[in-house]
Amino acid sequence: MPQKLQYSNLSYIIDTTTWHEIEKLKINEWKLDQSEIEINSYITNPTNLKNTKMFHLANMITISPNSFNTNYKNDYNKNLPLLVKFQNFNIEQDLINLNIKEYIEQQTTQFLSVDMLTEDNYKYLLHGVLFTYSDLKHHLFKFIMDFPVLTFESSYVYSEKYDSIEDIINISFDQFVNQNNINSLYPIVINKQDKSVKPLTREVVMQLNSNMVVCMYTLSPHNMLGLNWKNLINYMRIVNPNLINFNILAMCESWEKSLYFKCTCDPLTNGQLKTIKLSSLLKPTITTIDLSKSMNPHKIAESASKLNLNLMKWRMLPDLELDDLSNSKVLLLGSGTLGCNIARNLLMWGVTNITLVDRGTVSYSNPVRQSLFEFKDCFQKNNNESIHNLKCNVAVNALKRILPTANCVGVNLTIPMPGHRIDDQNMDQTVQDIKQLEQLILDHDVTYLLTDNRESRWLPTLLCSVHQKPVINVALGIESFVVMRHGLQGQGENRLGCYFCNDIVAPEDSISNRSIDQQCTITRPGLSPIASAIAVEILASIYNHPLKFLAPAYDENNTDAENEKCQTVVSVIPQQIRGEMRCYSNTIMNGCQFDKCVACSDIMKKCFEQDKYDFIIRCINEHGFIQKTCGLDNIGTCEMIEFDFDE
Ligand SMILES: [Zn+2]
Repeated sequence: MPQKLQYSNLSYIIDTTTWHEIEKLKINEWKLDQSEIEINSYITNPTNLKNTKMFHLANMITISPNSFNTNYKNDYNKNLPLLVKFQNFNIEQDLINLNIKEYIEQQTTQFLSVDMLTEDNYKYLLHGVLFTYSDLKHHLFKFIMDFPVLTFESSYVYSEKYDSIEDIINISFDQFVNQNNINSLYPIVINKQDKSVKPLTREVVMQLNSNMVVCMYTLSPHNMLGLNWKNLINYMRIVNPNLINFNILAMCESWEKSLYFKCTCDPLTNGQLKTIKLSSLLKPTITTIDLSKSMNPHKIAESASKLNLNLMKWRMLPDLELDDLSNSKVLLLGSGTLGCNIARNLLMWGVTNITLVDRGTVSYSNPVRQSLFEFKDCFQKNNNESIHNLKCNVAVNALKRILPTANCVGVNLTIPMPGHRIDDQNMDQTVQDIKQLEQLILDHDVTYLLTDNRESRWLPTLLCSVHQKPVINVALGIESFVVMRHGLQGQGENRLGCYFCNDIVAPEDSISNRSIDQQCTITRPGLSPIASAIAVEILASIYNHPLKFLAPAYDENNTDAENEKCQTVVSVIPQQIRGEMRCYSNTIMNGCQFDKCVACSDIMKKCFEQDKYDFIIRCINEHGFIQKTCGLDNIGTCEMIEFDFDE
């Protein structure tokens, strides 16, 4: 007795990790592009159901991060791809306004205008549609998913089950699958007489007869036809409205589980043909996924902290390079006003590998100016606990409160300085300090010189020059500042100078025997934040230049062609920016390396390589030794440009 053909529904799951993938793609690749793309969902290969023993998966399609990976190598023995048209809206209201039922119906004309029975178009015969909106700030996702089903008014197909499959196929199920390489949801047609197999095309549909069997996998649990069959049978009837008899073989995990039907129906009338449309299968409403509840708050903070940077790439700076910058390891020598501000500015650019070096403790005068310290950090309950109030450690703790995933380390270290004599009993410790400083420089990509006096910048400058490690130096005067990147050997004959290249005297003790107003602190309060911000912006520029720290210096007097080489998407890269507050002006300046420089000259490098730490101790302890080494002792002294520093 023929029975009305019935079809099972199709359902779906979206793997939670998919939303993270969508978030990543939206930020880094799609940005403001909201055009429709085609992705693959996956459904268990019906042949494989017997191995998985999970028959409930037979009509369940899965969307996973692999769906968005165009290079993903699918294992067809396990899963078959099913096309999903995907669109991620920029504006939430566009998703809210979307009437999915109307949208799918509107696709009918286009659907019917192409021949679905060709190799290129089979995949559209049954496909999904997925619309999403991603609220990146709150990790909130909204979506609508549906499947267009081909329908027309009141014309049923009746089916009668054949007893045995042997009249068409005399080989095993697996043999049949392998011989014909059936690893898709595309229909084929089997000739009962000569057992030949060919793709189902429009021409074949026009000529279907009782000797032919239309064959395709079924996406359905046992004894039902899947939705893919509904769309195929209805499409065949549209192609050939006079089709009234046809055979179908809906393949599942074995011949026993497959369905072999003789189907009958009435011819489609013109009136029925006019009612053809694509209909919504699920008629869904918007579903909301809130990932923030399942995410580690630290991870949320980490990704949110980079959101604004990534948003810059959407419209303003599409070529902005952020990865190298945020992966860089930055050493800050000095954790006072400048160190605190630089560290905060580095976090803003996504730089989280920061080591802060200082030997001082937080004093009552610090918190108002030094942005990582608070009043409570000034207390020292007893001498044993004073270690907790070291500036470098307090600053690190503050940075971790701001961004818990920041990889910050504090190092309590004294930097030996020329003119500050080292006694014999402190010699071993000093050599150890020099070695530790050297190792820190080697372990980081760039060193910022932010200490409170001139002479403490000499040893790091020398060590960075010896090891060819980049330096950015920031110094404050009463109402002026300089931000300067040091030159590197790789710049060849155009090597830029260092902080000491303009000097013809070696650094000496500038701290002892000075009154308190001469020692430090007397700078306009706004100077440090301004200079620190510039010193970090210049780092962002450097990381956006193909030559990085070897980039030539921008110079107003250069030709446009020359300056083009110093240009990045962020800004030009000068060597020095000198600012002053009286006229609120900044001046860009350049200086070449001085061959007799007390810190970066070849002779200093050579002497260090020869005598290592003994050489440094002599530089520190012996008055006039550095000048003599560099050949400066014959040059008359002249007035040194002096800066005061805010400790
Ligand atoms: Zn120099």
